[in-house]
Amino acid sequence: MKNIQTLEDYLSSDSEGLAGSSFVCPYCGKTHSVPIGKIINGNGVLDQVPSIAEDILGHKPLHPVLVYDQAIEDVIRRYVIDPLACAGFTPQLFPMGGPGIHLDSEDKIGDAAAARIDPSTDILIGAGSGVISDTTKWIATRTKKPFMIIGTAASMNGYTSITATITKNDVKFSEFLTPANAVVLDADILAGAPIEMTRAGYGDLVARAVCNADWKLGSLIRGNFFCPLPYQITAENERKYMAVSRQIGQSDPDAVAFLGEAILKSGLSMTIMDGETSPSSGAEHVISHYWDYLVHLRGLVKNFHGTQVGIGSVMMLNLYDYVRNLDPGKIDPQKLLRTRPSVEQIEAENRALYGEKAESFNNVVSQKRIPDQDFIPNISKILSSWDSIWSEVGKYLASPSEVAANMKAAGISLKLESIHRTKEDGLEALLKGSHYRIRYTLLDLAWELGIFPDAAEEILCRSGVIE
Ligand SMILES: [Zn+2]
Ligand SMILES: [Zn+2]
Repeated sequence: MKNIQTLEDYLSSDSEGLAGSSFVCPYCGKTHSVPIGKIINGNGVLDQVPSIAEDILGHKPLHPVLVYDQAIEDVIRRYVIDPLACAGFTPQLFPMGGPGIHLDSEDKIGDAAAARIDPSTDILIGAGSGVISDTTKWIATRTKKPFMIIGTAASMNGYTSITATITKNDVKFSEFLTPANAVVLDADILAGAPIEMTRAGYGDLVARAVCNADWKLGSLIRGNFFCPLPYQITAENERKYMAVSRQIGQSDPDAVAFLGEAILKSGLSMTIMDGETSPSSGAEHVISHYWDYLVHLRGLVKNFHGTQVGIGSVMMLNLYDYVRNLDPGKIDPQKLLRTRPSVEQIEAENRALYGEKAESFNNVVSQKRIPDQDFIPNISKILSSWDSIWSEVGKYLASPSEVAANMKAAGISLKLESIHRTKEDGLEALLKGSHYRIRYTLLDLAWELGIFPDAAEEILCRSGVIE
């Protein structure tokens, strides 16, 4: 591992420079490291895949295996398989899923694939976007094989993350898996991806303006750990790609290259925290995961992760605006304690909504619940430090109207309708999101302060996500 000495050097390093690095943090004192050995980003870099594989193994690969989604086999052939074959590199093909199948990064699918991998495989290469990246991480961890990821779309930030989103019994979990030995993003391939995928990646990155505020909020209110470094390492990338929003929306290769680098850095912002996803995933991700959950629960249409995250981010930025502008003098902790829903009420409601799946929701509810005897001191403490909370948290927030304008410039619709979700689905995600995942976010504070359920509809209106 190479040691980076100064904060200035660290913040000016690109993703390639951060690969295989360690850094003693001046803020939190921890050593932040990147266990991914090589990160390559640029135009025409696919050619480097054979030599990267050789570097990883210390010899020419004898039995490389390429994992991909069969549903997009023609795309993978055109952009990855054929060009690699021209360079004399012909891995064994390992298609997953099939035509018309919507592949998911599910534990059972990953386990079945791991069992089918030829034991003589010496390196796995996952070529695809989110699902293939996460599934390859899972297979490689199970089979203990070295692996690299070739990202084929700038659609999400998971390539350089040491965790993967894995679905177990219809619920998504963030899993710690073996880090990739190398990650390769070729901007020429990314620019050829469907525009909706590129826009989804844009939406996934917009989360930065919400999730770091949520993370800081959790540290101020619940005493959770927080470090500002992840937010800082992605600042310059955000400025660059936001400045070319319109061009990104037109798949301009140079603009998409900025997005590609921002996506790699965003993944690293979690990796340097040992896989803690808070620097890239707050309440806006909870909202997206909740909408994914409705796919399983009620058969709703599945959308790109980042597209949902982008809309969730605008909703959360508006909720932040709403909450921080409240007058704390008008919030009465005694009244809140008297009127808040009881655990029994919430549990019964969850059972009515989710049936046998309500248990995981109710576990989260009981873990987060502030006991009656602690409630008034807790809320009073928040109210008495109101201004300092918002001046601290505000450092990590962005203006909702600016973010919305940039997203629109990139051609992203903010309407729930565009992701096949109704106003009711929007309300439900805001109100039930905090019961879905254990992480403390503004969604929890909104319940604790009695802002929810009443303000939820107003938040949707202000966000411009409903008519
Ligand atoms: Zn730190
Ligand atoms: Zn995401």
